[in-house]
Amino acid sequence: MSSYTAILSNPIEYLKGVGPQRGELLRKELNVHTFGDLLLYFPFRYIDRTKVDKISSLHGQMDYVQIRGRITYIEVMGEKRSKRLVATLRDETGEISLVWFQGWQWVQKSLRENVAYLVYGKVTAFNGVLQITHPEMDLLTEDIATGKQFLQPIYYTTEKLKARGLTAKAIGKLTFNLLEQLSPIEIPENIPEPVLQQYRLLPRPLAYFKIHLPASEEEAKLAQRRLKFEELFIAQIRICRLKIKRHKLSHGFIFGTVGDAFNNFYNEHLPFDLTGAQKRVLKEIRQDTMNGRQMNRLLQGDVGSGKTIVALLAMLLAMDNGFQACLMAPTEILSQQHFKGLSDLLKDMPVTISLLTGSIKGKARKKILAEAADGSLNLLVGTHALLEKEVVFKNLGMAIVDEQHRFGVAQRARLWQKNEIPPHILVMTATPIPRTLAMTVYGDLDVSVIDELPPGRKPITTVHRTEFQRPRVMDFIREEIQKGRQAYIVYPLIDESETLDYENLMKGYEEVKAFFPEPRYYISMVHGKQPADMRETNMQRFVSGETNIMVATTVIEVGVNVPNASVMVIESTERFGLSQLHQLRGRVGRGADQSFCILMTGNKVSNDSKERIQVMVQTNNGFIISEKDMELRGPGDIEGTRQSGVLDFRLADIVNDKPILDAARASAEKILQEDTDLLLPENQPLQQFLVSQRSKSQWSKIS
Ligand code: ADP
Ligand code: MG
Repeated sequence: MSSYTAILSNPIEYLKGVGPQRGELLRKELNVHTFGDLLLYFPFRYIDRTKVDKISSLHGQMDYVQIRGRITYIEVMGEKRSKRLVATLRDETGEISLVWFQGWQWVQKSLRENVAYLVYGKVTAFNGVLQITHPEMDLLTEDIATGKQFLQPIYYTTEKLKARGLTAKAIGKLTFNLLEQLSPIEIPENIPEPVLQQYRLLPRPLAYFKIHLPASEEEAKLAQRRLKFEELFIAQIRICRLKIKRHKLSHGFIFGTVGDAFNNFYNEHLPFDLTGAQKRVLKEIRQDTMNGRQMNRLLQGDVGSGKTIVALLAMLLAMDNGFQACLMAPTEILSQQHFKGLSDLLKDMPVTISLLTGSIKGKARKKILAEAADGSLNLLVGTHALLEKEVVFKNLGMAIVDEQHRFGVAQRARLWQKNEIPPHILVMTATPIPRTLAMTVYGDLDVSVIDELPPGRKPITTVHRTEFQRPRVMDFIREEIQKGRQAYIVYPLIDESETLDYENLMKGYEEVKAFFPEPRYYISMVHGKQPADMRETNMQRFVSGETNIMVATTVIEVGVNVPNASVMVIESTERFGLSQLHQLRGRVGRGADQSFCILMTGNKVSNDSKERIQVMVQTNNGFIISEKDMELRGPGDIEGTRQSGVLDFRLADIVNDKPILDAARASAEKILQEDTDLLLPENQPLQQFLVSQRSKSQWSKIS
C-alpha cells in the first residue's frame, strides 16, 4: 500500500493542532474525516497580504480593506448590552477605529498597543465616522512586512467551529501543518503526461500545495485550473468507461425484423408523414436494437416535436419481434392521455394495450397484471406503478420513459431489472438539457434529438403584459374565444402547501368568471387539491371543447394536448423558472392556428425577471432557453440534475468552466479510444488512481 493512502487516510484528530474534540467538530461541521479530506478542503478566496491601503484613502463605499498600523489607544465603551471595545489604529496617513461588540474581553487581553498589526475587514460608516467592526488582526511579522508572505487562504468555517478556535485562519494553519508533513509522492499524479503537457497543467502535488498556499493570484489560478481539470477529467473518464462497458457487456434483445405491426401501422394508420428528425431517430433506434446490445437512448425533443409517435413505433417494433413494451409517464393525467392517444391510433390494429396507475385497483388491476405476466398484453402504459414488484412481464423488450426529468436515475435502473436480459430503454424528455449538462448527467446514455417541429406549425407569439394592461388581455382572450379557440390561464403553485397560492388561484378564478360569465362562457378549473375524478372531469370538459377557459395550476404542465387552445396566459410570471415557462407555453401552438403566450407580471418587474421574460419573448427554441436557464440559475437547479449527484464538483462549475469541461471530455474520449483498458504505461497513473478510488466511488449507482 502506498504511503499516499497511509498518510492521507489518517483520522483528522491525529493532525497537529486538532485532537479529539476539534476532530469531532471537523467531522460534523465540515465532513472532514481524514487528512485527505482536509487536503481537499479548498479555500474559497485569498487575501493578498502584499496589498495595503492607506487609512486616509478609505471610504464608506469600499468593500474589504487591509491596512497596516499601530494601535495607539484601547478603550471599553458603552453600558451593558452596548458595551464594546474600541481601538484606534494609526498609520502614517491617519487614524481609524476598530470595534468589537462580541468576544471583546478576549480581544482586549490579546491586543497590544504600539506594535504593528496587519488589519483586514470591512469599512463601514457609523454616524459619518469610518470604522471597521470585528476586523481580523495579525501581528505584522517580517514576512508580511517585506511582502514575502503568501496570499492568505480563507476557508469557510462555521460558528461552532469558531467557538472552538477554528477560525478561517486557524483552518489555514491546520492545512499548513498538513502540507508540511506531506511529500509530493503522497499526492501521485492521476492525469497522463501528454494531457498535462497539452493543456499545460500543473503537476498534481504542486497544484494541491499552491491552491492552499499560492504566492500570487496567478499561482492560485493555475492551481485551480489544474484541479478543476482533474475533477472534470476523472468524471468524464468514469462516464465514458461506463458507456463503453455497457456497450461491451450489456446483452440486448435483437429486433431482427420489421414486421406486420410496424408496417401495417406505418403504411395504413399513420395520420401524417413523419418529419425528417422523427425518421432519423427511428433509424437510430433500429440500429440500437439490432446490434445485440441493450439500447439506452435519451430522446430529447422540444414540446410538440412529436415524440409520442416515435415511442409508439418503437413499441410496435418490439411487438413484431415477439416482445411486450411499456410506456411510463410521470403523472396520472399524462399516462391517461398517452393511453387514450395510443388506443385511438391503434384502434384498427390487432394490438392489446392497457393502462396501469395507482388508482386502478381490484379486479381490473388483477386482470392487467395477469395479462402482462402471461404475455397476452402487448403494450402497457402507466405511471411509476409500473415499477412495482408485482408488475411482471412475460418478455418485456422495450421500456419507454416519458418526461425523464421527473424520474431519477435509480428509477430508470429499476426498469432494467424487469427481465434477466434488460429491455431496451428509451428515455424521452421535453426539457431540453444543455449539451454540457447532458454529457455530464446523461453521459452514459446515447442521445437522439428531434430538432424539427411538424410542418405547418406557426411559431407562438409571446408578449409581456403588466397588471395595467389586464383589461386588454381579457378582451383579447374574448376575441380568441369568439373565433372558436380556447385559453389557458395558469397560476403559480410552487409549493402544494402554500395556502396563499390557492387563495390567489381562487381569486383569479372568480375574476375570470366575472369577465366571462355563464352561460356564454364556461370555465374549467384544475388543481392538485381536487379529488382525482373531479380534476379529470374538468380536464375532460376542456379537452372536449365544452369549456372555453382552463384556469389551472402547473398540474397541466406536462403533456396535456388540446390543439384547439391558442392562448396561454401565465400569471405571476416572475415566480416561474425559464424551463417551466417554456413547458407551459408548449401547451399551445399544437394546432394549425396562430397561438399566443401572454406573460403577466405586476407593474414593477425586477431586472432578473425582465431578463427571463426577454428570453421567452425572443425565442421559442427550447435548447436556447435551457442554456439560458442554466446560465441564470446554475446547473444545480435544472430539474433532474440534483438527484443525480454527478454535479457535485468541489471546484469546477460546468457553466463557467465549459472550456475546461470540453478539454477534459476530449482528452478522456481520446485516451479511452486508444486504450480502453488503460494498459499503456503513460496511463498507469490514471488507472492506479481509479483503482484507489474505487471503494469511494458513487458511480456504481448509475449503472
Ligand atoms: P411531444 O414531443 O411534446 O410529446 P407529441 O408527440 O404529443 O409531442 O406531438 C404533438 C402533436 O403533434 C400531436 O398532436 C401529434 O399528433 C402531432 N404530430 C406529431 N408528429 C407529427 C408530424 N410528423 N406531422 C404532423 N403532426 C405531428
Ligand atoms: Mg409528450
